[in-house]
This record gives sequence, C-alpha cells and structure tokens, in this order.
Amino acid sequence: MDRDKRYGIRDTQYAISVFLICLLTLSTIGFCQDEIKSGIQDPGSRIQNWVLVIHGGAGGVPKGSMSEEKEKQYKDKLTEALQAGADILDQGGSSLDAVESVIVFMEDCPLFNAGKGAVYNDEGFAELDASIMDGKSLMAGAVTGVKTIKNPISSARLVMTNTKHVLLMGEGAELFATKSGLEIVNPSYFLTQRRTGQFERAKKKLQKKEATKGTVGAVALDREGNLAAGTSTGGMMMKMKGRIGDTPIIGAGTYANNATCAVSGTGHGEYFIRNSVAFDMSALMEYAGMCVKDAAHYIILEKLKSQGGSGGLIAVDREGNIAMPFNTNAMFRGYTKETGEQGVWIY
Ligand code: ASP
Repeated sequence: MDRDKRYGIRDTQYAISVFLICLLTLSTIGFCQDEIKSGIQDPGSRIQNWVLVIHGGAGGVPKGSMSEEKEKQYKDKLTEALQAGADILDQGGSSLDAVESVIVFMEDCPLFNAGKGAVYNDEGFAELDASIMDGKSLMAGAVTGVKTIKNPISSARLVMTNTKHVLLMGEGAELFATKSGLEIVNPSYFLTQRRTGQFERAKKKLQKKEATKGTVGAVALDREGNLAAGTSTGGMMMKMKGRIGDTPIIGAGTYANNATCAVSGTGHGEYFIRNSVAFDMSALMEYAGMCVKDAAHYIILEKLKSQGGSGGLIAVDREGNIAMPFNTNAMFRGYTKETGEQGVWIY
C-alpha cells in the first residue's frame, strides 16, 4: 500500500514536471515566432559581440588595373572607415550610429562614388541617393536626387527619425535638410577633377566601367543585438537626369530586420530594384530558413548573375555571421568584429 502511495506521489510529481516543461517550451516557441514576425526585440535582452561590415562599391577594376599605390589608398580608407564604426560599437554605441558615421566618413572621401566623390548624371552634375534602416523598429529613411546636401546619409536618418515619411526627393529633401541644420554645399562641391575627366571620357564613349563604381554601404550588429544598414551613392555615371537607383529604395539597396539580417547592396541598380534584392535576402532567411551566406550567394551568384545583373552585397545576421559575395571582378569591402577578426579586400 505504502509502495503504491509512493508511486502515486512520484507519478503526480512527474506529471507536473512534464506539464511545466511543455508550458515553458510552448511559450519559448511562441516568443521566438513573435520575435521573427515583428523583428522587434527587447533591447538589451541579448548581449552580442558587435560586428561591422562595409563596402565601397563593386566591379570595374580588373586585377592589376590599379597601381599598388592606388590599391593601398583604397585599403587605407576602408580601414579608417571600419575604425570609425568600431570606435562607436566598442563603446556600446548603436549599430545605427556606427552605420551613419562610417558612411559619412566614406561620403567625405573623394575615392568613393558617394558624397564628395560622386559620379555625374548626363548633364554633368551629381544627384545623390542614400538610405538607412533600423532593424529593431523596422523604421527607415531615404533621400533621392539631392544636389546640395553634403552628407545624404545623415539626411536619410533624419527623414527616418523626424518625419512621418520614408523617402524625400530633390528640393523637398534639401529644404528639410536645411531646416534640420545639416551642412548644405554648393553643387560645385561635388565636382572633382577625377569625375570631370571620367565624365568627359564617358561623353565621348571612351569611359571604362570603373567610373560608376564606389557606392558605399555599411551594416552592423551592436552589443544589444540590434541590426542596421545604410547605403549612399552618386548612382551611375551618365545616368539620365532624374534617374533613381536602388540605393534609396528600401528593400532594393538597403534593408534591416533584427529577426533576420542587415543588407547593403552595390551594383547595377535597376537589377537590384527589379529583384528587391535587400528584402529578398531577409525573406529567404525568414521564409525559407536559409542562412545569411546561402541567401547572399544565391541572390548574387545565381539569381542576379543569370539575369546579367552585376554587383554584390554585404550582410550580417542577428548572430553576427556575415556574407560579402559579388559577381564582378572586384568589390571594395571589409569587416571588423569585437572578437578581433578584421580585414579589407578588393578582389
Ligand atoms: N547601385 C548604384 C545605383 O545603381 C550604383 C552602384 O552601386 O555602383 O545607383
């Protein structure tokens, strides 16, 4: 009898334990699904090692076509850009701050096709595009066709945080940037000797492809597990006046979602728009369960390539895994991680 009683108590304890474990498992699954659906996580709920990945454009530079000195210049600037973002992330700063600062640095560097070094449209002046996205809130901001904003990425961020809109164009974007206190420059600020030479050669149809390359982008994961992405460009040399590429289009050139990844693309923008490249990355991870590397390789090396779309992308996922594929002869790129791993590459 005693023995039966003992077994009875044990059975009850066992049943309660099983019930509690089931409850815990179900609530965890529910939480993960909610997290994936909304992309919104409790800040500070996860402690991550930060990761930063950048690009400075893809293609147009066959190996050996650049002098060693020029290659070094590019690599030095990529390294400095990484450092600018690493300093922020290492002090516990946000991925959004790191992305913006890195891109501001690259916009101010005449080597890249963004900000100061932007290429020209077919009328011989720069029309700039930029966008930024916060993977935690899924908020985004962008500007397109701006001619006087020194750092378009900062105006994109202000569109995200200080307006109800996502994308502002031309004069309206410039007015908003002026009112917000951003630095406004004369359009001639973006005219550089190098780009003017490339423009003249392009007009005579002697232009080699490298003139269009150099768009800049950054993606980051911060210690709180928040992802962010940003991209900035002058577009493509000799583009039609008024042409808008993928860079300011959320889901084409830029996308970030804490539930999946942060992405910045570079290349022939029309292909990135038609394929919704940046969102496709996130969708392949969310709906098809692909990892960041497989999704990036599939999109750039299979899907885009089979259509003749040239370019590459950089991406980082919520665990800090990265991908940097390109289907061109080169992509200026680099990454740095809190773990100490880092590097910059061209080919
Ligand atoms: N994607 C940019 C555009 O089409 C150009 C580039 O990345 O080189 O405007």
